[in-house]
Amino acid sequence: MFQNPSATETSPPGALTLRFAFAGDVSEVIQAHFERDAKQATLSRKFKLYYRLRRWIPIPLRQLLQRGRNQRIDVPRDWFLPTAFAKDFRSTALRQADAEVIHPWPDGYQMATCLTHDIETKTGLGLVDRLAALEESLGFRSSWNFVPHKYAIDQGLLADLRNRGHEICVHGYNHDGRLFESKRTFTARSVAINQAMLDFGSKGFRSPMVHRNLNWMQMLDADYDASCFDIDPFQAMPGGIGSVWPFIAGKLVEMPYTMPQDHTLLVTLAETTPRIWIEKLTFLRQLSGMALMITHPDYLDTSASLKIYQDFLIHLTEQEDCWRASPLQIVDWWRLRDAMRIDVDNQSNPIHGPGSDRARMTSFSSLLTD
Ligand SMILES: [Zn+2]
Repeated sequence: MFQNPSATETSPPGALTLRFAFAGDVSEVIQAHFERDAKQATLSRKFKLYYRLRRWIPIPLRQLLQRGRNQRIDVPRDWFLPTAFAKDFRSTALRQADAEVIHPWPDGYQMATCLTHDIETKTGLGLVDRLAALEESLGFRSSWNFVPHKYAIDQGLLADLRNRGHEICVHGYNHDGRLFESKRTFTARSVAINQAMLDFGSKGFRSPMVHRNLNWMQMLDADYDASCFDIDPFQAMPGGIGSVWPFIAGKLVEMPYTMPQDHTLLVTLAETTPRIWIEKLTFLRQLSGMALMITHPDYLDTSASLKIYQDFLIHLTEQEDCWRASPLQIVDWWRLRDAMRIDVDNQSNPIHGPGSDRARMTSFSSLLTD
């Protein structure tokens, strides 16, 4: 008898097809938290107005407004941990502690990590090469999300990054905060975004300011999106899906970011060490999750900030149970895993389908470590 390892597909008429990391009751927990995000992910009238006026506001004033707002946000000490989700997930999963599932990660790894960057400005563009070289020196390759209609993009830089093993992705349209203002705006701009996907040879997309609507994003010629997050109380568009694994949303693999953004840590909170990233990594390991980072060359612009990032990357290289992959390697793996089937009558060789030689069965009790 064969079973689909992923969640039971949930597709009421007109709704997006969703398949989460695990089937059964835990899938309902993941879905409930996802739906909360989908409901909350709208912009307040104040923010809509702000984005309309934004282009007339000088950049230093914008930064001042953002810093003031972020610093007024009252967050608990562990604001970067999706504790409500983890509690719900754990209690449901441990009710069926011995249930067999396909481990989220291949090749014996316990967790996964990948690095992504959004390039916000022309200044950031000039800092790409230095950051890429730092990552390469530690054995990382990452994805670089460029804004197609904001600054001049040197095709030579894109080709160079690609040749060095990095990925090029598209970061919205012009980064004015209005991409998701209405379905009409999104539809109109999606044509130019798809052209950029083609021109850049991109398979991935990230929305500016992580505004999102996964239904509308089906219009994009992308293989994956990386605009959702598990938790991030500092975003203008509120929400948070809680869960820390990729999932299938219609034609896209959704790759939520799960590590606090560099801007939050280094600018808003003025952290001087990578301690919060390290703490989050430990939390993610306990869920066999994915540590997806968003950093910006624009904010890693001093030797002090670069050193904090470098220290964290060195910490990552010391985690032998952590799969250090590029976003696309994880996406490709996730599609294979999603298509695998479990033969419950075959004890010695239960997983079938392409890539199954890299997969393994596990139980919720061993997936959730202390
Ligand atoms: Zn951005």
